[in-house]
Amino acid sequence: MYETVIGLEVHVQLLTQRKMFCGCSAAYADAPPNTHVCPICMALPGVLPVINEKAVEYTVMTALALNCTIPAFSKFDRKNYPYPDLLKGYQISQFDLPLSQNGWLDVEVEGAPVRRCGITRVHLEEDTARLTHKTGEDGQSYSLLDLNRSGVPLMEIVSEPDLRSPEEARAYLVKLRQILRYIGVSKANMEEGNFRCDANVSLRPQGSTALGAKVEVKNMNSFRAVENALRFEVGRQTRDMDAGTRIPQETRGWVEGEGTISQRSKEEANDYRYFPEPDLPPITMSAAAVDAIRARLPELPDTRRQRFEQEYGLSPYEANLLTETRARADYYERAVAQAPADDADRRRLAAREVANWMIGDFARLLHAAGLEIDDARVSPASLYDMIGLIAGGTISASSAKSVFEEMFRTGTPPAEVVRELGLQQISGADEIAAIVDQVVAANAKPVAEYRAGKQEALKFLVGQAMRASRGRINAAALTEMLEAKLREEA
Ligand SMILES: [Zn+2]
Repeated sequence: MYETVIGLEVHVQLLTQRKMFCGCSAAYADAPPNTHVCPICMALPGVLPVINEKAVEYTVMTALALNCTIPAFSKFDRKNYPYPDLLKGYQISQFDLPLSQNGWLDVEVEGAPVRRCGITRVHLEEDTARLTHKTGEDGQSYSLLDLNRSGVPLMEIVSEPDLRSPEEARAYLVKLRQILRYIGVSKANMEEGNFRCDANVSLRPQGSTALGAKVEVKNMNSFRAVENALRFEVGRQTRDMDAGTRIPQETRGWVEGEGTISQRSKEEANDYRYFPEPDLPPITMSAAAVDAIRARLPELPDTRRQRFEQEYGLSPYEANLLTETRARADYYERAVAQAPADDADRRRLAAREVANWMIGDFARLLHAAGLEIDDARVSPASLYDMIGLIAGGTISASSAKSVFEEMFRTGTPPAEVVRELGLQQISGADEIAAIVDQVVAANAKPVAEYRAGKQEALKFLVGQAMRASRGRINAAALTEMLEAKLREEA
């Protein structure tokens, strides 16, 4: 039996307005090639880079959210390599003195204990240009170079080899993405390329502490692809080890539908040459500066989830769903906060019912419309008001579904929807009695069956009465009245 050992390197584009070392806009997604460029990111001679302070702040924020320590002193280095996707011939990165180190992230896979994965470091560097390789009509190959991406702030998050399965690797990425989005430092979208993952995977005999030859897997552009690629690698390495074949240290690329394909051997250590960057001052972070950034961190998902369970009496499942995104959690709390703070009953009712609606009908409608909660037309106050209309007996629980659908479609406040659609609950005993009479008179056969002891017939009659009232009667009140009526005439 072998133990799987996985470490992940994640590159994340930061959501700063400007690039890492120049004034160019970093929002290049829809721009024509080579329009977000200047002498600095084109590497013209004689230019000087300037550090983007926001990028440093975002990196420190991320590092703090991942429980890292922030050294008082860090610096940038030049990472020299021959690939032509940076015109300088080197990438400005961080080598021996990164902005942060020694953190951790707790990862959970269903049915397994929590895994604490070490974070080696979170550092800052610049993104590279995009190269597109083509073949012309004459059969000659050529490459196109787009510098828009060149110099965009790129944060690298390196984990320790602490993950033990492809599922844990995926859970790590999902959790990391959630945190990055919560703190607002990146869109963290793998499909869009602003969240990229390379995985190191090796196997070792169960009980051994030595690390096997490291195989690096690249070219995965979804969480599913990462999990599949790692699963493939575990299978491949298991077969090779069983067969006694030595596993070389190498880089492999994931090809959907095929597997991982060897790209290059890393046996002949082609180390990058790093030199201290002479054009940039080192970064000094005082304890006060770190504390100021820490103070700006929002409540993180794990903490918020636990607080939701305790404060609002939600199940772990509900709290997990409602804190999945910051927007969803904010919406929930805004709606519940509509209840007067000194009215414990109404707060409890709001906490319960807002959760029910957000996990139920609201989530279903959002999903069907392909919308996120920030796009919803229903305000938190409207959702709370509608719950009040149900609790106060103005609308029945079944009418509420139609009311909410209309609110969702138009954004109209619930009281207005109820008036427009004429959905006020029928609560007058006379009015209910009239409908009951009508239903009993029109359904002789089910009535007789019920009186002969067939309980299901009652359900049918309740359904008929609901239909006659367009769902506007309280079901409990209706059932009670119908039963009384059937008894009295039996
Ligand atoms: Zn520029």
